[in-house]
Amino acid sequence: MHAATRRAIFRRLAAANPEPKTELEHSSPFELLVAVMLSAHTTDKSVNAATRKLFPVANTPEAILALGEEGVKPYLRSVGLYNAKSKNLIGLCRMLVELHGGKVPADRESLEALPGVGRKTANVVLNIIFGETEIAVDTHIFRVANRTGLAPGKTPRAVEDALTASTPEEFKHNAHHWLILHGRYVCTARAPNCPNCLIRDLCEYPEKTAAEKLKEERRSQRAFPGASKTRTFLPQPPRRDSRRPRKGPLRSPLRTRKPHKTAAE
Ligand code: SF4
Repeated sequence: MHAATRRAIFRRLAAANPEPKTELEHSSPFELLVAVMLSAHTTDKSVNAATRKLFPVANTPEAILALGEEGVKPYLRSVGLYNAKSKNLIGLCRMLVELHGGKVPADRESLEALPGVGRKTANVVLNIIFGETEIAVDTHIFRVANRTGLAPGKTPRAVEDALTASTPEEFKHNAHHWLILHGRYVCTARAPNCPNCLIRDLCEYPEKTAAEKLKEERRSQRAFPGASKTRTFLPQPPRRDSRRPRKGPLRSPLRTRKPHKTAAE
């Protein structure tokens, strides 16, 4: 993609949303760290549902440690993999208390050493809390970067490196938010909303959704909420009937089965 096109994409995303924010609810660096850690393989909505109950009860490493693993589980039930995440949360709080005085560390190495914290979580914390220009690549950003041609790459790390190298400096700090929101609400995995996309003319995706197909998809979603997701992405097995030679009328195997012989016969 040409540098001028890339700049134009970010300029439009920035004009539409000058101050993008994370949708994970938090009121302290520690709450954000916990929310991002919990958000792996689950939606922000389900994380918010959990932390709205947990944080009023315990929102410091010490308070969560006092609850213990079994004590935090009931709060995290809305979050995917909550058993493993409860264990990680207690380990994370213990390390924060023992090694960092209960504070969220400001360097990548210390963050990534915490249980349940990987590169993506560390990037989000470094970006939002410590003002760095790290770009955390999640599933939405991975998709948008590849489809648009902004930063094609086969792995999240390749996309992250490409985005870091090519995003104009003035857009780098917010790039993560703009791309994640664009992927979540416009350039969705299934039937991206290309007809109403504000970067449609700049995007290099060759299979943009046509207006008619989008209408059809929306109709199907309204009629069968959640059902078309499976239909679109999973390969469907061939229908048995289509492989059967059509030589005559189909007969029920029950009707063709011979009756059992009785002892008298
Ligand atoms: S035009 Fe379509 S594929 Fe391209 S960014 Fe917009 S929604 Fe995504």
